[in-house]
Amino acid sequence: MPDLRFDGQTVVVTGAGGGLGKAYATFFASRGANVVVNDLGGSFKGEGKSSKAADVVVDEIRSAGGTAIANYDSVENGENIIETAIKAFGRIDILLNNAGILRDVSFKNMTDADWDLVIKVHVKGAYKCARAAWPHFRKQKYGRVINTTSAAGLFGSFGQCNYSAAKLSQVGFTETLAKEGYKYNILCNVIAPIAASRMTQTVMPPEILEVLKPEWVVPLVAVLVHSSNTSESGSIFEVGGGHIAKLRWERARGALLKTGQSLTPGAILKRWTDVNDFSKPSYPDGLADFMTLLEEAQKLGDNEP
Ligand code: NAD
Repeated sequence: MPDLRFDGQTVVVTGAGGGLGKAYATFFASRGANVVVNDLGGSFKGEGKSSKAADVVVDEIRSAGGTAIANYDSVENGENIIETAIKAFGRIDILLNNAGILRDVSFKNMTDADWDLVIKVHVKGAYKCARAAWPHFRKQKYGRVINTTSAAGLFGSFGQCNYSAAKLSQVGFTETLAKEGYKYNILCNVIAPIAASRMTQTVMPPEILEVLKPEWVVPLVAVLVHSSNTSESGSIFEVGGGHIAKLRWERARGALLKTGQSLTPGAILKRWTDVNDFSKPSYPDGLADFMTLLEEAQKLGDNEP
């Protein structure tokens, strides 16, 4: 496969002042795209702000002969970020919702402020950017979106309940955007990256961080947002350190019980093995097959007590 290029396209990267966002921004600029380098420039806990983070990346891109413009808005004001793209380059083709912060603390000690700020940046931020880009995508019948989840959201993680809740939200958000966008050629996927950055440098040893360069996340993102991808949408990928794998929901065989008086706790316990039986799983991606199960349930006789 030839190296993918993005000439003439506009890519908006949120949180592009460092870490993964910087790796995306420099890559897409090196492949011909016009890049909006958005970064609020605060601490990883979401405190303060500065134009420096975005400016440094823009300077780097321009010195290498690429095209980029800085934007310093918080993602909560996503409309300003998309407006920067439209004003500077006349269009937006690709949105990488990447900005993020951490406010790690045990659930017992979590404050409303820790919860609210993390939800605001990750959930509202991704929504506001995508919402502002959406009319452009629909009108031009072309758009590519990457949202960012995390292992912490998919599997849980001590001290990160705010971040876990915010990050898993990105999966549901992506699934719905993928469904609504498909007929307009707007493809949306979500990645759970793992990479060395200021977010992970204090929790992982240097030898592990060495093999987890943000650059190793970028190629998968490039594949997903390139125009040659015409069908991959609504998918979840783990990516980092050379490992790339799709994740999906798996449903156990399950128990189908007749509704009514015989649907008792005892009847469920009697079928507990079936409820937990993953030997013949199904892989649902919507409610359609559940409706078939409902129809089958209507035909059953009374449950065993
Ligand atoms: P990072 O801290 O290096 O990058 C995040 C960037 O977002 C920073 O430059 C920060 O200034 C910016 N930012 C924060 N709040 C912002 C706001 N309100 N508006 C605009 N910009 C803002 O961290 P990273 O590791 O590169 O993280 C990138 C994304 O990947 C995040 O969404 C993070 O949750 C996710 N993630 C990272 C890892 C990992 O292993 N590094 C794992 C799972 C998920």
